[in-house]
Amino acid sequence: PFQLDSYHHPFLNSTLKMSAQERTYIMVKPDGVERGLVGEIIKRFETKGYQLSALEMMSPSKELLEQHYIDLASKPFFPKLINYMSSGPVVGMVWKGKDVVKTGRKMLGATNPLDSLPGTIRGDYCIDVSQNLCHGSDSTESAEREIGLWFTRGAIDWKRKYDSFIYE
Ligand code: ADP
Repeated sequence: PFQLDSYHHPFLNSTLKMSAQERTYIMVKPDGVERGLVGEIIKRFETKGYQLSALEMMSPSKELLEQHYIDLASKPFFPKLINYMSSGPVVGMVWKGKDVVKTGRKMLGATNPLDSLPGTIRGDYCIDVSQNLCHGSDSTESAEREIGLWFTRGAIDWKRKYDSFIYE
């Protein structure tokens, strides 16, 4: 999952070291798909400079959702959460780049949209915690666990030439 890349810089005519690139699992939840916010959410990660490594629309089974949210199984809202998440298709993605787990969470905003700052996805587009549009992994460990769960065929590890304009 973590690789140290090097690349040939087009202008400096030398080979530079890239920082280790981490991955995160980002998902547009059923309310985000229903409201036509898939493109908006993809756009924010793309224009930030992160690299798309996998993308799939799917109707997850309750079993998959229960596995995904296993850490919340004892919460009173768990059954409601599973119902919400299985109420329609979702769009799952793997995004790659420097500090993408933490920065991705910042871009999503606080779990409760009433606490999410304007400028974040949740802060800009929703109000209730039970319909908060999107999911983002909370650590590199959960990211790799979630990617393994949702993308059993794996992600695409492609080399992006554009990286030399994003990373120093
Ligand atoms: P996050 O999605 O920001 O990592 P959590 O892991 O704590 O947050 O919760 C997972 C999801 O469960 C939230 O995104 C939200 O959809 C839902 N959720 C969290 N708290 C509540 C609550 N009090 N009532 C209903 N749904 C909740």
